[in-house]
Amino acid sequence: MHRPFVAVLSSGSCGNSILFRSNETSVLIDAGISCKEMERRLSLFGAEAQDIDAVLLTHEHTDHNRGAKRFCSIHDIPVFGTEGTLALTPLEGTDAKTIERHGTFGVGNLSIRTFPVRHLAAEPVGYSIALDGIRASIASDLGSPTEEVLKGMRGSDLVMIEANYDEDMLMNGGYPYFLKTAIAGDHGHLSNEDAGRLCSEMTSERTKQIVLLHLSKDNNTVDLAMEAVEKRVLCGGGARPSIAPTEHGCQNGPFAL
Ligand SMILES: [Zn+2]
Ligand SMILES: [Zn+2]
Repeated sequence: MHRPFVAVLSSGSCGNSILFRSNETSVLIDAGISCKEMERRLSLFGAEAQDIDAVLLTHEHTDHNRGAKRFCSIHDIPVFGTEGTLALTPLEGTDAKTIERHGTFGVGNLSIRTFPVRHLAAEPVGYSIALDGIRASIASDLGSPTEEVLKGMRGSDLVMIEANYDEDMLMNGGYPYFLKTAIAGDHGHLSNEDAGRLCSEMTSERTKQIVLLHLSKDNNTVDLAMEAVEKRVLCGGGARPSIAPTEHGCQNGPFAL
């Protein structure tokens, strides 16, 4: 028996996958690293592929679905995604299950809520997972902090949110202009400042842990992301959750629930 926890197997443009682990039910949110690497990193957190009850895809970009087909087909694990995500993800030989962009479904004893996010993808979503009155919410790859994201994640004990770029680093960096505007646009990625604002709006006494995801290797640093979010979240006299960054491409955690 162990307390439920969330662990980041990998985060960033090189691959994303997050483990939600409890005694009865465990799921992966995204499978954006190779099958072999997912198996290896699961073992670092005392888990193996046979423990995984479902893979939940956020959207169809390869850094989120690269390993899904192999991992889910050889281990016979169902894969959940919106119609748009599943249509654009190679999933031959898997048990693919369509979910609503705005809905609730169950896996084992988990109750999982989806909410839409704005991102340059077909039908991208974030996930909010509830177990025995505890809630963990995850949103990565979103261009703007919308009311739907706020509603979908509010009231969570643990929040995992993208903090992709520092505005100055992106704008003064070497990316071509079209790419800079795409990243910073409403359907691109979330800046440190926006992540900080969103976190401060959703933080309550209940929020114990914030984890920052998908930090850009070129346009961000752990220190800048932490500074921007800490400034917004910890400035009031209210709740003081722990805030943790994730390093690009590395495993991070576990974060207890
Ligand atoms: Zn991504
Ligand atoms: Zn994406």
